[in-house]
Amino acid sequence: MKNMKKTSRRRFLETAGSAGAGILLSGMRTGAQERGGGPGPHRYGRQEGSGRPATIDPNDPAVVFSESLCQECDHCEKACGRMMGIMDRYDPEKTGKAICIHCGQCSAICPHEAVTERFHYPTAERLLADPEWVTVALVSPSTRVSLGEMFGIEQGANVQGKTVAALKALGFDHVFDVTFGADMTVMEEAAELVSRLRAGGTDGMPMFTSCCPAWVKLAEYWFPELLPSLSSAKSPILMQGSLVKTWFARKNGINPERIKVVAVAPCTAKKFEITRPEMNASGRFLSNPEIRDIDLVLTNRELGRMLGAAEIDFAALEEAPFDPAMGRGSGAGIIFGNTGGVMEAALRTAYYLETGLDPPEDLLRFAPIRGLESVREAEVRLGGRTVRTAAVHGGANIFALAEKIRAKEVSYDFVEVMACPGGCIGGGGQPKTRGRAAKEAAQTSRSTGLYAIADRLAEPEASSYKNGALRGVYDEFLARTEPGEKETNAHRLLHTSFVSRASDLA
Ligand code: SF4
Repeated sequence: MKNMKKTSRRRFLETAGSAGAGILLSGMRTGAQERGGGPGPHRYGRQEGSGRPATIDPNDPAVVFSESLCQECDHCEKACGRMMGIMDRYDPEKTGKAICIHCGQCSAICPHEAVTERFHYPTAERLLADPEWVTVALVSPSTRVSLGEMFGIEQGANVQGKTVAALKALGFDHVFDVTFGADMTVMEEAAELVSRLRAGGTDGMPMFTSCCPAWVKLAEYWFPELLPSLSSAKSPILMQGSLVKTWFARKNGINPERIKVVAVAPCTAKKFEITRPEMNASGRFLSNPEIRDIDLVLTNRELGRMLGAAEIDFAALEEAPFDPAMGRGSGAGIIFGNTGGVMEAALRTAYYLETGLDPPEDLLRFAPIRGLESVREAEVRLGGRTVRTAAVHGGANIFALAEKIRAKEVSYDFVEVMACPGGCIGGGGQPKTRGRAAKEAAQTSRSTGLYAIADRLAEPEASSYKNGALRGVYDEFLARTEPGEKETNAHRLLHTSFVSRASDLA
């Protein structure tokens, strides 16, 4: 690899996995993807405690299994069963199909590349090579504190500028910050929370966050009675994708059919989320249902592999700024990558909506809800009310808390749920770590890194409702209605719905 120091290269190979090495060393793509997972039932591990096989569907949109690479080490079984609580909650003999929330923790832990994310990067490379397409990259909040790990840069260090420069070097026409989309999610979610609180009663309470697609799917399978309580606000990436294909395309005179939006994320579940039938709000808006809100999702690992294949020396890149149209989010948008961050972000804006005042200092550093404890609880005064909140992360912890909520053993007004351990900083598409201690150290460094970036920002940069560029988009587009339409563009583009999948478990 050109210009890559020896230590950086070794670190890259460790964090990208052996398929990354295949690309780097030979220019060929290796591993499960090229084998297409192979024929057969795609068994991996055994269902914990039962001796039954679990499966990955050969058509799973997020992860791919290759039996020929599997060494039966059972790491994936521990991730899916013990950590996420999925495998031991269904019987594949009964369901006749794989039940998966697409968190990708199996792919993050597999040391043999037998389970990987479903690669989108070959398609991304083809799009970038074709001048026909206007390519837009959206960079997730937590990518800036983890991508550097693949190139020998200190864990948790802010590589935002290098990430933008790298995506430009790969050929993306526009590179936007998903903290802008996170601010949109906050605006919609905080308004929804305040509206539900004002309505009083218990309907739709507690309100759950819904920006984690793996949590949404878990709820659709096992807790369908909670679905009316999930916020209808779309996740930041899906909101921003629909805005790129509508407002941004219109403003810049670009045919939306020529735009391809590629999200860069720590998340494999986003690969599933973008395939949900309802995630074509921009297509419905534009009367072309074929247009999707997001076209591809690259995990952070995949972006590292693309940079390696393109022989881009990430560590040596000059920093570049995000493109200005959606280039700036608030500190609230940045902390979305941490467990508890979505709640903290939403409470700042909810406080403003309820009181008309800027949030106090303790909401700009909401200490009780920060940290990596499995469940953190806190009460906060919003206007004349006390709002009871909780944040939970990790599949097994989610089952435990949701079962208590269902049994009315605990009571809250607002609950943040993130499927991956630590939230997106521990996402299934993050650079790989080996062993529990390394994994926990990575989560701590990434989490600390995100809070450090955000906490440097005082008002007016700390809260989503003060994002001037976003307020401008609301004024000129989102808060308006199109001729002949009754709903605002915000309602048409930024909200979604959920579906019970409980019958799949029967
Ligand atoms: Fe994706 Fe984050 Fe949810 Fe993990 S916690 S599935 S990375 S959204």
